Amino acid sequence: MRKITIAKGDGIGPEIMDATLRILKAAGAELEYDEIEVGEKVYLSGNTSGISDEAWKSIRSNKIFLKAPITTPQGGGYKSLNVSTRKFLGLYANVRPCRSYHPFVETKHPVMDMVIIRENEEDLYAGIEHQQTDEVVQCLKLISRPGCEKIIRYAFEYAKSNNRKKVTCFSKDNIMKQTDGLFHEVFDEIKKEYPEIENEHWIVDIGAAKIADTPEKFDVVVMQNLYGDIISDIAAQITGSVGLAGSSNIGQECAMFEAIHGSAPDIAGQNIANPSALIQGAVLMLNFIEQFSTAEKIQNAWLKTIEDGIHTVDIYSEGKSTKKLGTKEFADAVIERLGQEPTSMPAVKYAGNVPMNLPKYERKAPRNKELLGVDLFVHWHGTNPDEIAGKLQKIAGSNMNLSLITNRGIKVWPNGFEETFCTDHWRCRFLPENGGTTNEEIINLLSGALNEKIDVVKTENLYAFDGKRAFSLGQGQ
Ligand code: NAD
Repeated sequence: MRKITIAKGDGIGPEIMDATLRILKAAGAELEYDEIEVGEKVYLSGNTSGISDEAWKSIRSNKIFLKAPITTPQGGGYKSLNVSTRKFLGLYANVRPCRSYHPFVETKHPVMDMVIIRENEEDLYAGIEHQQTDEVVQCLKLISRPGCEKIIRYAFEYAKSNNRKKVTCFSKDNIMKQTDGLFHEVFDEIKKEYPEIENEHWIVDIGAAKIADTPEKFDVVVMQNLYGDIISDIAAQITGSVGLAGSSNIGQECAMFEAIHGSAPDIAGQNIANPSALIQGAVLMLNFIEQFSTAEKIQNAWLKTIEDGIHTVDIYSEGKSTKKLGTKEFADAVIERLGQEPTSMPAVKYAGNVPMNLPKYERKAPRNKELLGVDLFVHWHGTNPDEIAGKLQKIAGSNMNLSLITNRGIKVWPNGFEETFCTDHWRCRFLPENGGTTNEEIINLLSGALNEKIDVVKTENLYAFDGKRAFSLGQGQ
């Protein structure tokens, strides 16, 4: 018996979890449950994280968490439990299979069977945001080499283990050359270790358009957190319904399995919710804990139920469906079909997959880091860049050289355009022409700024790593 933690969640959560647990039991899953309370009640009791220390203990000791959707109350500074669970437990890979069930569930894309692998821990979701001036706020996009390596390796290993043929990478490295550039670079490194798997890269905007238009051309697709959040919902929706997709969140130690939809408070307590997405989450979980034959049994019975036209109201359509059932009755129909296989759609076979090989990330030897200069971000209410440039040149001293001023990334000095719209947030780059600089020189520069009443809201050091410039140029530089 394998002990797992479960949470019934809010809204339709308890109904779809009960349906799922009944199917697991009937299929002979070797599971014991430790039930915890998370979500709305916990939030409203004054715990802004939505989860108690006891509940964390249960998840950390059982390491497997099957979670129904929860309601995050609006306002009041409540933290998203999903985001904190993923980050605290290091669940770096969010795996979202998106396939259509044509002709049984209506879809514009009858041939579609892709898996989106979304990085789950970093990117703009680090939640590091600041207001710097009256007019400008920032959100830091943090991308790490371990983050990229772990998720991209996961995508290739997933493809290999699940007999998939191609891994596609999405990034926006034509614009974000450092962050998305690193993601693409690591993809190019790791793909070489998997010559048997086809690979390709698309800029995320056209890639997303292609997914919406010709999803049948994609197999495994790997991307950063924000792109993955948006695009996996699109991909799930165009299969016919977000209500059919489960997802897994995988880490080195722990894993969480869930439906991708929310707690649907509008239909809670009416026995009409579709439990399929959580059932899919449970199937992913059974595969993860290597109870392959139970996973196959449930998935094939579920496919047969869908194929027999036995549908909940959200996917019911005259002509395609034969019966409209409630949540409980749908689960009964799946249970009745345990041991059967679909006849029109292919039956699944999970046992015998090559196990995934995911070694722990090993930190690389430090590289040679050289300080070349500094960007001072200045809050200034003026409008003529020549004026602020004059002040800054005065404090530059003999070695520091003001080389550039940008406003929201656009070069405005020297030789800017009058037409460029400027805010009160100026990025002023000091980059000595000959050789690098030192921290002492940067501190002197900041003292000079203080004396001249220049309001520096942030500094960013400019480095080269192993002799290679490691910062972006200003647009127009
Ligand atoms: P939602 O996914 O709950 O609902 C969107 C629409 O889809 C609703 O009309 C709903 O009735 C329908 N729907 C969703 N799941 C269904 C199912 N299984 N069967 C039939 N119909 C279904 O999204 P929302 O309304 O934006 O969010 C409601 C709450 O859920 C919010 O509090 C939100 O924070 C939370 N949420 C939780 C999770 C999670 O726990 N993983 C994810 C997303 C949203």
